[in-house]
Amino acid sequence: MIVVFLGPPGSGKGTQAKKLSQELGIAHISTGDLLRDAVKRGTDLGKRAKEYMERGELVPDSLIVSLIEEVMPKDGGFILDGFPRTVPQALALENMLEGYGKHVSKVILFEVPEEVVVDRLSGRLTCSSCGAVYHVKYNPPKQEGVCDLCGSKLVQREDDKEEVVRRRFRVYKEQTEPLVEFYKGKNKLISLDATQSVEEINKKILEVLKDGG
Ligand code: ADP
Ligand code: AMP
Repeated sequence: MIVVFLGPPGSGKGTQAKKLSQELGIAHISTGDLLRDAVKRGTDLGKRAKEYMERGELVPDSLIVSLIEEVMPKDGGFILDGFPRTVPQALALENMLEGYGKHVSKVILFEVPEEVVVDRLSGRLTCSSCGAVYHVKYNPPKQEGVCDLCGSKLVQREDDKEEVVRRRFRVYKEQTEPLVEFYKGKNKLISLDATQSVEEINKKILEVLKDGG
């Protein structure tokens, strides 16, 4: 099963992908997490991606496609969270999967309005070490400022400042939203009201994946 999570930043893709990956025992591939790790380690990719990420713009397709080629599991299912984000990336994904005789099973669209995104991202806290995600109001850690899972410090992502969040939302509308039509045309798209609770959304996704559509 190869599932793509599509939706604006802050729509809850990472939260659901982490849950689902545990529940179904399939891999979770987040290009955002991989890029942040590359920036932290100061790799060549990290150096090239850093400024785009800080500005809230997309990292060039060629870098992202090479990254995905490197990490994509050859066996077993996986969830793609935050990739593809442009039509050229979606086409590259199709080519890559074809090479292994595979295809995208389903694309789940997380629908939320801009103000919900701003509210969620302004309160998002991310673990500086393991990448776990919390929210000051909607999913607070047990101890303030400390990760429940690994005990490290929780921080606000630089690109979660309101001005950058609004730019990221605009970038989503302009460059990523065309993928809605792209996947609708292939009969793969399932839209979800992503303003619901984490549990409700999780339940819906499990239903959709179980009954094949
Ligand atoms: P994305 O991966 O799409 O950018 P995240 O999963 O990181 O989004 O979620 C963004 C923020 O919103 C996080 O702080 C998360 O805890 C919170 N969040 C996620 N899903 C929900 C939800 N259904 N209701 C309220 N808050 C949520
Ligand atoms: P995310 O964690 O998914 O919100 O991604 C954080 C940032 O990483 C984005 O704002 C982009 O700069 C970059 N990024 C992540 N995935 C992609 C992608 N598929 N294409 C281009 N840039 C990406």
